[in-house]
Amino acid sequence: MLKIGLTGGIGSGKSIVGRAFEMMGIPIYVADNEAKRLMVSDAELQNLLVSRFGDQIYDSNFNLNRELLAEIVFNDSEALKDINSIVHPAVRKDFIRWCEQHSQTPYVIQESAIIFDSGLYKNFDKIITVAAEDEIRIQRVMERDSISRELIVERMRSQLPESVRIEKADFVIYNNTELILPQIERIDKQIRSLVNK
Ligand code: ATP
Repeated sequence: MLKIGLTGGIGSGKSIVGRAFEMMGIPIYVADNEAKRLMVSDAELQNLLVSRFGDQIYDSNFNLNRELLAEIVFNDSEALKDINSIVHPAVRKDFIRWCEQHSQTPYVIQESAIIFDSGLYKNFDKIITVAAEDEIRIQRVMERDSISRELIVERMRSQLPESVRIEKADFVIYNNTELILPQIERIDKQIRSLVNK
């Protein structure tokens, strides 16, 4: 079973592409969602977060105080790095466990915006990136999240440039005005042919 990474910058269309693969029967692991789940369910991870940031980051029901955590990150430049160094290994472990449950499928996909920004790419056999022009991504995110252009541009700047993701990826899905389904079907065939080799 191959492990495929699905990445792309903010608003590129990762989720939409992931959903299309899912509808074709491919199991999808959405790293962001799983990280959020683990932060409220994985005791080992919770203990590490508490020892770094204090027990006030959880309430008595072990709900995460996301506002407090955001405030801590805003005021402490090391905090985000520390959160990542606690959460990423837990996600990696969880993904390995999850893969074991899907050993019968030709391939699985993990969706994550930071596959190339972090060292994560080493964990995948092949990587797909979804690419769209900056202005199109900005418009789509403004519509989706009702947030300001400035905030979106700031997030874009904190990520790798699109050209780097395109250069590093094994497959690119263009999501400007192109149809994505034929591209997805072509990549699916190519990945399956690798599995059968
Ligand atoms: P993020 O990293 O911000 O979570 P994402 O890469 O997962 O973003 P999506 O949520 O899939 O991106 O897409 C961003 C928005 O653009 C969504 O509202 C989605 O419905 C819309 N969108 C994506 N692709 C297209 C398309 N080809 N045509 C029209 N709208 C699209």
